[in-house]
Amino acid sequence: MAKERTLSIIKPDGVRRNLVGTVVNRFESNGLQVIGMKMIHLSQKEAEGFYAVHKERPFFGSLVDYMTSGPIVVQVLEGESAISKNREIMGATNPEQAAEGTIRKEFAVSLEQNTVHGSDAPETAATEIAYFFSETELVNPVL
Ligand code: ADP
Ligand code: MG
Repeated sequence: MAKERTLSIIKPDGVRRNLVGTVVNRFESNGLQVIGMKMIHLSQKEAEGFYAVHKERPFFGSLVDYMTSGPIVVQVLEGESAISKNREIMGATNPEQAAEGTIRKEFAVSLEQNTVHGSDAPETAATEIAYFFSETELVNPVL
């Protein structure tokens, strides 16, 4: 196993319902360490850019509206197999299909408002981290 970094977002429904600490706890108690974190409110352009891969999908406009509807918490998680481990902790995209005990199963409001984002591969993790963080904003992990 190799140490990896991944981008995590606590989406507007999670921030709005005071779930920041709860979500971060899931990562920390599963061996992932937060090495960068900030709360931001995405502009429409920023949200469109972040989700550019989905721009032809029918839900794109609604997704951008939702992601700009309130503040989000963006964070970089580091740890062994951080990319797949984060996806495991999050659960499937659709909360109805998410495994018991996952963040999306327990907290998601809907398929769209599913509380968290996580990078899906090393290349997307690198791109997504760079979308929000400069290297100097990421601390040296203690673990
Ligand atoms: P994931 O976030 O699990 O990587 P996707 O990359 O497929 O999932 O989709 C990005 C986000 O777009 C999802 O997390 C969800 O918020 C939203 N989304 C995906 N599919 C749909 C859909 N069919 N209807 C509405 N929103 C969707
Ligand atoms: Mg995705």
